Amino acid sequence: MSNDKENFHPIDASVMPRFAGMPTFMRLPHISDPSMVDIALVGVPWDAGTTNRAGARHGPREIRNQSSFMRAVHHVSRIAPYDLCRVADMGDTEVNPFDMQDSMQKITTFFNRLVDNGVTPLAAGGDHLCTLPILRAVAKDGPVGLVHFDAHSDTNDTYFGNNKYTHGTPFRRAVEEGLIDPKRTIQIGIRGSIYGPEDMEFAESSGMRVIYIEEYFKLGPEKVIEEIRRTIGDGAAYVTFDVDGIDPSFTPGTGTPEIGGYSTFDAQVMIRGLQGLNLVGGDVVEVAPPFDASGMTALVGATLMFEILCVLAVARIA
Ligand code: MN
Ligand code: MN
Repeated sequence: MSNDKENFHPIDASVMPRFAGMPTFMRLPHISDPSMVDIALVGVPWDAGTTNRAGARHGPREIRNQSSFMRAVHHVSRIAPYDLCRVADMGDTEVNPFDMQDSMQKITTFFNRLVDNGVTPLAAGGDHLCTLPILRAVAKDGPVGLVHFDAHSDTNDTYFGNNKYTHGTPFRRAVEEGLIDPKRTIQIGIRGSIYGPEDMEFAESSGMRVIYIEEYFKLGPEKVIEEIRRTIGDGAAYVTFDVDGIDPSFTPGTGTPEIGGYSTFDAQVMIRGLQGLNLVGGDVVEVAPPFDASGMTALVGATLMFEILCVLAVARIA
């Protein structure tokens, strides 16, 4: 990818300490020209799809702040993403906080520009509805597989009458629009009280592999990785990580917490298990700083972004 082109590296912490300087993702330069970039880190500061506690619109800024903790090389896989690929902070998408359709168009337009230039996107939300306009760009040539970490299936139909676009509905819309292949979709960590027994009908009848949290704890992360790899296969796939999939004792700063989730460590192990899959993009969503008194949830978000970045970098050079 990057042979004779210029790679970007985080600001040297021995020159500029981590608490200083402008807070870009991973302390990388902010680049606007997609022809200079292989993997774009992008903020989507939008939470208009949130049905309960809002605040994820503030996620990108706080994830940028906490991402100053990230170093350059993965401590287990030894992947060095900034040596493998040209990675940069490409800023935030435009959004219109008063117009949902306009916001989704603006988000898709931004990601189309990346995809059309061969750039792999890695986004920080925003609520989970952000993933739908991203997928409209990433999957415009045909449905992709989906690795979906979440406490919630996000496959409801409508809210408050006939509102089809919420953070509880994006993956039903994504199936209807031909953006994801439900048979190559796996949801990991589903739990929490439901509106009614029909809530999971769509996910299960469309053929999604749903790993409820009870099965998760029975299998453990290594067996779950096998299930992910079996479900996704060799085709293109997108990874979406809703931080409420993790137990809220680790990630309290999110809009819809559900107790009884997996740990941050298990989340890291599962993402590492994606290495070698044909990954074409990813996101981390639902970090809501107003509920994140210590900044811990944003640190989790930043760390998961680094984990996903490492497996995306390997996919780029494959
Ligand atoms: Mn979600
Ligand atoms: Mn969720």
